[in-house]
Amino acid sequence: MPDRAGRIAALLLLLLAGGCQKRTLEPTVILVSIDGFRADYQDRFDTPTLDRLAAEGVRASKGMLPVFPSKTFPNHYSIATGLYPAHHGIVGNTMYDPGMDAWFRLSDREAVEDTRWWLGEPIWVTAEKQGMTAGTFFWPGSEAPVQGVQATYWKRFDDTVPAESRVDSVLSWIDLPEAARPQLITVYFSDTDHGGHDHGTSSPEVREAAERADGYLARLVAGLEQRDLMDQVNLIVVSDHGMVDVSPDRVIFVEEAVDLGESQVVEWSPVLLLEPEAGRSEEIVAALDAMPHLTVYDAVTLDSVFHFTGSPRIPSIVAGADAGWSITSTREYLEARRARFPAGMHGYDPRDPSMAALFIARGPAFRTGYEVAPFENVNVYPLIAHILDLTPAPVDGTLDAVQDILR
Ligand SMILES: [Zn+2]
Repeated sequence: MPDRAGRIAALLLLLLAGGCQKRTLEPTVILVSIDGFRADYQDRFDTPTLDRLAAEGVRASKGMLPVFPSKTFPNHYSIATGLYPAHHGIVGNTMYDPGMDAWFRLSDREAVEDTRWWLGEPIWVTAEKQGMTAGTFFWPGSEAPVQGVQATYWKRFDDTVPAESRVDSVLSWIDLPEAARPQLITVYFSDTDHGGHDHGTSSPEVREAAERADGYLARLVAGLEQRDLMDQVNLIVVSDHGMVDVSPDRVIFVEEAVDLGESQVVEWSPVLLLEPEAGRSEEIVAALDAMPHLTVYDAVTLDSVFHFTGSPRIPSIVAGADAGWSITSTREYLEARRARFPAGMHGYDPRDPSMAALFIARGPAFRTGYEVAPFENVNVYPLIAHILDLTPAPVDGTLDAVQDILR
């Protein structure tokens, strides 16, 4: 029989051992988006954390394929839902729905939070519907209930929230007791998109933005290492699209070649979404198609390549500029705004290499040091559903397409 002091010492040891005991997590996925991080930025800039995650996991070094149009909202929501934009409803950053007689714009908070725009089933809704807790520190679609469901933890988008606080919040979610802890977490950083739009893809500013973003990941990784959880958490780092340099000297002036009359232009550039004036469709298509650096996409391309058909939100004419070109109405319109012309843009044909997006995945579910060929971002949803042992909703993406990256 040990004495009292001995018993206390033994109890303390037990408590200490208990306190240090490694936590075992249920399968966990942290999905990170670095907006506008072009696939080749990782090779061109100093990104030690991304390089490490790739070496210890899986990387698509030629990039992940965005969906058409290669814009922010359609792509984030395709990653989240496994659906092409025509099926998930977010066919552009700006949209008009004739049935709703309503416009959707990124800056319109009421629209962004209006459940009617968001179709399909984002992965956090799949999780919550199946009894799993999810947390979204920003993701397009996370601010509106979809099928009446939202993530347990979600944030109203505010890009002034410092990236470091976003990372620290994610780590604090990981620290929650099991019953409250999300197994699916998303987090979003915008630096590289701003750097690319404002200064171009070879600027010191975009380099700094990419290297800053790598630092946010370093903070996340350090936090997981501190908690001894790097071998339990699956990190999936993606971007929504790439970026290409544009110039006011490479502009297509639509209204100098075509009288649009009463046509409705939903989006101008670099994808022109246009509902032609009644009875003038053929004439307008022919005139647009004759313009250099502009392609009016035919039905086969829209259907079989872009899967961009069948939604009332897609107008009947869809045309796209060559990568690096912009579309506007007239030279006069451009000249009035030349000083504010962006340096970089995206939205082009997803098959153009400049649009290639980032994909890196590391964790217990993934192979190590594996290089995966380009695949479409609609396959990310079935991948996450598989890792979290969720029954996926019927989607356009497949697990088969990414099966080879799994351990
Ligand atoms: Zn974006």
